[in-house]
Amino acid sequence: MNRSISVLGSTGSVGTQSLDVIEKLGYRVSAIAANRNIDLLEKQARKFFPELVAVYDEDCAQILKERLSDTGISVVSGIEGLIDAAEIGSADTVITAVMGMIGLRPTIAAIRKGKRIALANKETLVCAGNIVMAEAEKYGAEIIPVDSEHSAIFQSMSGGGKDEVKRILLTASGGPFRGMSYDQIKHAPKEAALRHPNWSMGQKITIDSASMMNKGLEFIEAIHLFGVKPEQIEVLVHPQSIVHSAVEFCDNSVIAQLGVADMRIPIQYALTYPERTEACAGELDLTKLTGLTFERPDLNTFRSLKLAMDIAGRKDASCAVMNGANEAAVALFLQDRIKFGDMYDCVSLAVDELGTLSADTIDDVIRADAKARDFVFERHR
Ligand code: MG
Repeated sequence: MNRSISVLGSTGSVGTQSLDVIEKLGYRVSAIAANRNIDLLEKQARKFFPELVAVYDEDCAQILKERLSDTGISVVSGIEGLIDAAEIGSADTVITAVMGMIGLRPTIAAIRKGKRIALANKETLVCAGNIVMAEAEKYGAEIIPVDSEHSAIFQSMSGGGKDEVKRILLTASGGPFRGMSYDQIKHAPKEAALRHPNWSMGQKITIDSASMMNKGLEFIEAIHLFGVKPEQIEVLVHPQSIVHSAVEFCDNSVIAQLGVADMRIPIQYALTYPERTEACAGELDLTKLTGLTFERPDLNTFRSLKLAMDIAGRKDASCAVMNGANEAAVALFLQDRIKFGDMYDCVSLAVDELGTLSADTIDDVIRADAKARDFVFERHR
């Protein structure tokens, strides 16, 4: 199949790797969208010639519009612009690699157009999993995960029937603070938290990997994506990042997906599924591995992970509040305004205070998210 793709968040880590994969697969790019990195957007626009470029920031959109005036490419702005890029008629697939809550409305818009969603935006399912999965079902939109763990689970799921799944083994690298105590990491400097051992990613997700909040978000996503209960997911720290996750079936067979730590593999699979095509990324040489180890995470050190696991099954706004508060807390940490350990305190306080808000509609979710952010920022003026 020759696909045509809209890439939301095209200038980020997953977005740039997605364009790399799209180029190698020879697919078309219908639209690209980003927040404000117009230098890179301009380069991408001149290389891929999409119909539409969406820039979230209004001023940056104006500048890019002038710069691209010789090309005939439309430049749109704001959340409406992102939604235009998500809904664009020529795209059959939308890669949602926008970071943060801002990705929610465009993802819903693409689902309502029945497009395949190559899902890379975590907030969509963490904050509004029940609503999003119901909409996808209603409009017949496929949601194919891009995140390496969920792609691995998705691929492993084909090893048996849905009601034969016993549990999901969700692997985690453990991040830079693996093996440390809570007291050792609570004052950790930004530089240490940004030093991820295996994956090269954006700053937000790298901090979330250091706190293991990232695994907590993935835990919640997995519940929605695969229709399992929280108690059916086990998190395993696997520092080599070779087994990207696994599924255990009722006969105790465990099916896993392995590969080098390169996001282009799951990106490619989300685009070519149900087919496979020649690789964009390198091959795994099992003889070069010195060992694969698995251990349970230390939930006393990684309190954010424990919090996420504890609230994962709740139907109220707890998960949206946790996510919003965490985004605010990570921003404060990256600005050196709070300590590493303060992030957890901010987030758990916000969940206690605001978690019982309702999350029945997208507007409810967006309201809870905004309240959670305000709650954190208010405390650290
Ligand atoms: Mg991941």
